[in-house]
Amino acid sequence: MTANLHPPIFDGHNDVLLKLYRAGGVSAAASFLTGCAGAVDVPAAKAGGFAGGFFAVYVPSPTDLALKFEEMTKPEYQLVLPDEIPYADAIPVVMAQSAILFEMERLGALKICRTVADIRAAMAAGIMAAIFHIEGAEAIDPDFHTLEVLYQSGLRSIGPVWSRPTIFGHGVPFRYPSSPDTGDGLTDTGKRLVKRCNDLGIMLDLSHLNEAGFWDVARLSDAPLVATHSNAHVICPHSRNLTDKQLAAIKDSDGMVGLNFAVAFLRDDGKMLADVPMSQMIRHLDHLIAQVGEDRVGLGSDYDGAVVPQDVTRVSGLPVLRDAMEQHGYGAALIAKLCHGNWLRVLEKTWGG
Ligand SMILES: [Zn+2]
Repeated sequence: MTANLHPPIFDGHNDVLLKLYRAGGVSAAASFLTGCAGAVDVPAAKAGGFAGGFFAVYVPSPTDLALKFEEMTKPEYQLVLPDEIPYADAIPVVMAQSAILFEMERLGALKICRTVADIRAAMAAGIMAAIFHIEGAEAIDPDFHTLEVLYQSGLRSIGPVWSRPTIFGHGVPFRYPSSPDTGDGLTDTGKRLVKRCNDLGIMLDLSHLNEAGFWDVARLSDAPLVATHSNAHVICPHSRNLTDKQLAAIKDSDGMVGLNFAVAFLRDDGKMLADVPMSQMIRHLDHLIAQVGEDRVGLGSDYDGAVVPQDVTRVSGLPVLRDAMEQHGYGAALIAKLCHGNWLRVLEKTWGG
């Protein structure tokens, strides 16, 4: 079977925009079309059947977490989270990364999708379908003026925190072994953000929230609960993963969880080491499916933001994972749901028609 006969993959998380921002900003966008030496670009996507996904805008901290990956190879670790990033520092970075995304669209590399119909049309036309997502809401002011403007320009998904604190709440530190129950949840402003996102039809991503914040959203939100890139805590007891109780809440809300390829969240030992077999990814998928059901699991690769298993280091390698699903006994209908169908389902419920 060639890659093109496999169901296309729509993915819950990538950090391509951060990579291009660091590579020179808007002027680096063109390299996405020809090949930009990372995990995701147009040639690799065509080779691997990568049809699109969530493109995260993310404001890096002065101390890059990637520098701490070494620390995450130890048997136990607890990384100190960077300080809160002020609004005034976050805005120019969010504008720059958003501009890169718009430049990529202008160059014909992708289509920024505002509805599920947009995603279906882009996939049918063979154009990469991108969701404009913000990971960490540092650039959102408490009166939601920037939220409104970003929504009007195409923003459809937001994580109230990327692990470090914001005015909206607290995230999980990178800690192994650890429960995700690591501190206070949403602030009052964060609770208002949930309501505002519900009103606008912006998806809330729970992946970096701590457990208290997760339950705050579960109580307040009228949308399905979605964790775009998180794994099963019972297999890998990392603070970033979801307990069975959290997974039950996702199921009850008819939400969704995307399998994170980051090896520290896949491995039983929580180490940031790439020698992870496909069978370990399948173990997580099996457990997630058992907990939330076949209609509520997808992929959330974290490509260009994490160390991933050696057999799927780029999107061109994705057929290896699909083959592993097939060999494990997943049928064609289930594989199609895991690869893209479930994302479209939950987005339709979250955004409306
Ligand atoms: Zn993330």
